[in-house]
Amino acid sequence: MTSRLLLVGAGHAHMSVLRAFRQAPPPDTQIVLLTPYPRQVYSGMLPGWIAGHYTLDDCVIPLAPLLRGSPITVVSAHLQQLDLTTRTVTTDRGHRIEFDFISLDTGPAPEPDALPGLREHGLSIRPIENFISQWQQTLAVIDASARTGGDAATVTVVGGGAGGLEIALAAAWRARSGPPMRLQLVSGKAGVLAAFSPRVRRMAHQALKEMEVRLIEDDAVELGPDTVLLAEGGELSSNFSIVATGSVAARYPREAGLAVDERGFIEIDEFQLSTSHPFVFAAGDCASVVGHPRPKSGVYAVRAGPPLTENLRRAVAGRPLRRHVPQVRALYLLSTGRRHAIANWGGLSVEGDWVWRWKDHIDRRFMRSFGGSSG
Ligand SMILES: Cc1cc2nc3c(=O)[nH]c(=O)nc-3n(C[C@H](O)[C@H](O)[C@H](O)COP(=O)(O)OP(=O)(O)OC[C@H]3O[C@@H](n4cnc5c(N)ncnc54)[C@H](O)[C@@H]3O)c2cc1C
Repeated sequence: MTSRLLLVGAGHAHMSVLRAFRQAPPPDTQIVLLTPYPRQVYSGMLPGWIAGHYTLDDCVIPLAPLLRGSPITVVSAHLQQLDLTTRTVTTDRGHRIEFDFISLDTGPAPEPDALPGLREHGLSIRPIENFISQWQQTLAVIDASARTGGDAATVTVVGGGAGGLEIALAAAWRARSGPPMRLQLVSGKAGVLAAFSPRVRRMAHQALKEMEVRLIEDDAVELGPDTVLLAEGGELSSNFSIVATGSVAARYPREAGLAVDERGFIEIDEFQLSTSHPFVFAAGDCASVVGHPRPKSGVYAVRAGPPLTENLRRAVAGRPLRRHVPQVRALYLLSTGRRHAIANWGGLSVEGDWVWRWKDHIDRRFMRSFGGSSG
């Protein structure tokens, strides 16, 4: 009997699944990929694009080559609703897709409501595709203003985690050779890289100083047309504000009745299966493995890909699943604007231009392994 497998989202884990199923599709299985975009932007290289080290083509994996010759049918839309009783997904473009097994790799949700005023006055880092076009428009506006004698624009990044830090430093580097910008980073009261060691945090502070990024260790509470309001009552002038405050969960899993953790991420077991619905697989940032809490990070999403491929093959064939316990430590490579980076692995940390070259090598190799054009 033929099984129907629905893959939702072309996230990091599903990229492995797509590549493996193209080479060796599981027998007697109809596979549909539901994805809103024809390409996947690699977030690890996004700061390098902002800094001007990469072209956009360097940072994207087009799906077409990955699917060429593959039996997978693509539906271009967002999952809107998941009905676990009828095992049906409806999309924002009116499709209705039935499945026997579903695998969810939809990442974190877009965050238009992460901060009051963000929808009207700010740029959200997710969805990354929207951010890319908004950032290009922002640079064009700053350039045009500079050509008519306008002052340098003040750009605020809200969010002191790895993503916010890298974006602020990257934009500051870009400003040295391009659109005139003054950068400031509102890190939250806990400060920059609060989850990292004091040594790594010192390196981050030094990088901010070198790049002349003003650091404000307070919580942003609202964005105005040209302002960022702070929790302690202050108000910053800001012509453009980027919000990168970390992953939030999409609403659809909770609305569907899937078991979710306290933050709304899909609860899965060591077999990558939903703890409430054993025909639903999930991987990457949208999932949390019970008993193995990990940061929301692409490293874990990438590592979940090969075991997910194997488990999906086994599920459709009715065979027992394999256990996957996410690794305890992950290597973090944080770019600092110029071609320089900080590496952190467990208690070890180093920095240097060579660390950036190492990161560049790893990132480009990753892109090439999925047919990306990163040369
Ligand atoms: C600026 C920045 C830099 C980062 N750098 C690093 C780094 O260097 N290293 C690292 O480990 N992590 C990094 N991260 C974190 C990393 O981006 C995430 O952890 C990673 O993307 C999670 O992968 P994923 O597969 O779960 O989801 P994603 O990569 O977000 O992929 C999910 C896919 O699902 C699609 N999708 C979403 N909703 C739906 C829907 N309803 N229906 C269908 N499809 C949908 C999305 O369009 C997307 O293509 C960075 C994040 C940012 C913002």
